[in-house]
Amino acid sequence: AIAIAGLVKHYGSHRALNGIDLDIRRGEKIVICGPSGSGKSTLIRCINALEHHDGGSIMVNGIRLSADEGTVQDIRQEVGMVFQHFNLFPHLTALENCMLAPRLNRGIPKARAEKLAMHYLERVHLADHARKYPARLSGGQQQRVAIARALCMEPRILLFDEPTSALDPEMVGEVLGVMEGLAISGVTMVCVTHEMGFARRVADRCVFMDHGEIVECAEAEAFFQAPVSLRLRNFLAQIL
Ligand code: ATP
Ligand code: MG
Repeated sequence: AIAIAGLVKHYGSHRALNGIDLDIRRGEKIVICGPSGSGKSTLIRCINALEHHDGGSIMVNGIRLSADEGTVQDIRQEVGMVFQHFNLFPHLTALENCMLAPRLNRGIPKARAEKLAMHYLERVHLADHARKYPARLSGGQQQRVAIARALCMEPRILLFDEPTSALDPEMVGEVLGVMEGLAISGVTMVCVTHEMGFARRVADRCVFMDHGEIVECAEAEAFFQAPVSLRLRNFLAQIL
């Protein structure tokens, strides 16, 4: 579970997060949406300790996030992250990309790391492409490798930051399909996405952010059928 209270984050004098309160239950699927610059990525990155917050608190599975190295290590064991631009290592094959973190961060021996990596590459339907370098894979395939790579750490929480927005339209479906498959596995998922069909099918709750604040947070059905704030209504009218 994730407990966020009064979270504040500045970039210089700019207040990117202005007091975020959000409790996420174990196994819950959360979709976060909102206009560009509203703080969605910043929030996700704070949960994974990729950014330090400067006010409030974040608890992840009972661990309170702080800047010290040990805590960051602990959090990274619990939390996997998938980025918009895949961020695969270009000089490593799909398989090697997946083996890296288990070997370095979990000390898993090579043969077992390879088995683990193949297991998750199969899960994203890429077993046949395991020996290819990222440059020889399509965008959708690269993103599925990135998902397999995150799964190899066997995290209890998965964070996604616009995982399909850099993809050609015909590849969006395969990545969302893999994500929907994961959703039924019981893992906690927090997804920044504007794929509202996905949100409707998968999300327990949807969060709408604007100007560094949570403007609205509701169960998916109510979020789409009965948005309360004018800002969310306008936003939905634009993207649906
Ligand atoms: P998008 O939909 O475009 O991805 P977002 O909701 O993810 O937007 P953030 O990336 O979280 O928004 O940015 C929130 C605010 O913080 C923006 O005003 C942005 O310009 C600013 N910001 C983000 N990262 C940095 C940084 N590294 N340095 C300075 N300002 C930043
Ligand atoms: Mg962003």
